[in-house]
Amino acid sequence: MKNKFLTFSFDDCEIYDRRLTELFRRYGMKATFFLISDQLGFQRDFHRYGEDTVVERVSPGELKETYAGMEVATHTASHRLSMEHFHTQVFDSAKALSDLCGYEVRGLAYPGGEYTPEYIEALRGSRIQYARTVDVTHSFAVPKEWLAWGPTCKYDDENIHVLAEEFLHYKGTEPAIFHIYGHSYEMTRKEPGCDFASFEALLQKLGGHQDIVYATNLEVMEMITCTEQ
Ligand SMILES: [Zn+2]
Repeated sequence: MKNKFLTFSFDDCEIYDRRLTELFRRYGMKATFFLISDQLGFQRDFHRYGEDTVVERVSPGELKETYAGMEVATHTASHRLSMEHFHTQVFDSAKALSDLCGYEVRGLAYPGGEYTPEYIEALRGSRIQYARTVDVTHSFAVPKEWLAWGPTCKYDDENIHVLAEEFLHYKGTEPAIFHIYGHSYEMTRKEPGCDFASFEALLQKLGGHQDIVYATNLEVMEMITCTEQ
């Protein structure tokens, strides 16, 4: 059985997700997108990367089409989390997104990557099966705690191609997960290593390998926890 899993996760649901999902489909890959449910369709002026720009998030009506073949998960209702508003921020948000996508949303990415043991306990036993942090591991190890799942690295990590080579050559018996995360808006920077063209080159390298399973975050978790039992 295959034991190498490639998965991606992208946060904040800006409109550049449209371009990114097209890329994933082109290379036969899957990714998870963490959406801010109360901010769908939201637009505001913003200063970023030295330029005046507009932050524009995908609209509620386009989720099914934009994220077809991908996984939609929650990044909370308003990109905030506290114990006081935990239920609204996580479970109500997941429900709202589930209604829009037509399937049950089962994953969370902590906003700003911040989490506490209380959050983990609040999720345990709930319909949220995994929660991604931003504690990068630079490894392919299976997370010990799926409710604090640290990705391997960001897509623009300076060592991404070294890690990619290591993953491609991995022949071990333990499952290996290469989990790459980021934000699609970061690819609007016109810098090598950060832009869409650099990301596509990475997908070209990692795509089409018979021994790799290309899957969403949830699918990876399900496949691995299934075989562990
Ligand atoms: Zn975020």
